[in-house]
Amino acid sequence: MYDSIVIGAGIAGSVVARQLAEKGNRKVLVMEKRDHIGGNCYDRPDAYGILVHEYGPHIFHTSMEDVFAYLSRFTEWNLYPDGHQVVAKVHGRLIPVPFNLNTLHMVYEKDLAEELERKLIDAYGEGSRVPIMKLRENPDPQIQDIAQYVYENVFLKYTMKQWGQKPEEISPEVTGRVPVLISYDNRYFQDKYQGVPKDGFTRLFARMLDHADITVQTGVQASKRLEIKEQEILLDNRPFTGDVIYTGALDELYGCRYGRLPYRSLRFDFAHFDSDDFQDGHSVVNYTVSEDFTRITEFKYLTGQEQTNGTTIIREYPFAYSGREGEIPYYAIMNPQNEALYEKYKKLTEPVSNMHLLGRLAEYKYYNIDAMTKKALELADRLIGLA
Ligand code: UDP
Repeated sequence: MYDSIVIGAGIAGSVVARQLAEKGNRKVLVMEKRDHIGGNCYDRPDAYGILVHEYGPHIFHTSMEDVFAYLSRFTEWNLYPDGHQVVAKVHGRLIPVPFNLNTLHMVYEKDLAEELERKLIDAYGEGSRVPIMKLRENPDPQIQDIAQYVYENVFLKYTMKQWGQKPEEISPEVTGRVPVLISYDNRYFQDKYQGVPKDGFTRLFARMLDHADITVQTGVQASKRLEIKEQEILLDNRPFTGDVIYTGALDELYGCRYGRLPYRSLRFDFAHFDSDDFQDGHSVVNYTVSEDFTRITEFKYLTGQEQTNGTTIIREYPFAYSGREGEIPYYAIMNPQNEALYEKYKKLTEPVSNMHLLGRLAEYKYYNIDAMTKKALELADRLIGLA
């Protein structure tokens, strides 16, 4: 009845399903365990009519023209004219993050800031992006001083909250996402396109999955229907020989037989206020030296919703995922030990030639929306035989 099965209706699953149906002329079944599509990009209006991101703030950003063009088939955009901008609350003051030359001039007095700016430009070149862990290695005492400031005031406490570990203990890839910028660029990302789908992410997914050859079943736990028997996939106890694209957590597919893959989870605390504004026009404020939450997002500034009845915010409280019912694994904790455990699970899938792992969970990786879209497009092409 179906040629292919996709497990999970997040960005990975939805893109691959659309491509297999549209370009591959396949009949595709999408099974999603939640009662809605969109994965963690899912957004919905709250009780006050304000569009909120149920699983924390998601901002689309890319410089990949093909990815932007592809997603633009399913949505118009609310692109931010000045890019996505973030500030950190540091001892009562708001400073731009990533730390950049504007931040430098806020933190140091004029003459010293100018001297330091020259030093940074000489050392790294104007416009460069320097990961904090690299900046800390610079032997120049003045650059060390900047690095120490950034480490202490931007990274240490936020990373302790987010990961339960110090910046030097986590993968450099993670802190490298927010490098020190040797420029006056206050944008959080340097990508060409930055914004959110005009009618929300959920609508984008609904349009993507709206295809005659795609059937979406929500509220269906695939791990209860799928079983892997050595080289074979069983669906409802019968062999299924078509492609199965799995985007869920890999350990769960195997009953966590080698132990659970570690993840960080988040507890979200939504709050609504009758006033028009909560954080002075800032969509995201990072709390880098205080509080137990990492950041506050004020949705109206993220989505560009203008006529709102009051304002809604979300605070993010990270914690260690335990696998308990209702907990959600958001971030893979990338380190050699966890990756080795992941590889053990992956080995189990290798003899199963029609099983394909895709996405943050199934690949145990830290993907942005654009990179995920690209990867899903590539997998679909490969499966259809176009690549
Ligand atoms: N980070 C930090 N302070 C900040 C922003 C980021 O220490 O103000 C670190 C932290 O370890 C975080 C990582 O950089 O997990 C990546 O940040 P990003 O904003 O990309 O995280 P995401 O939005 O994906 O949660």
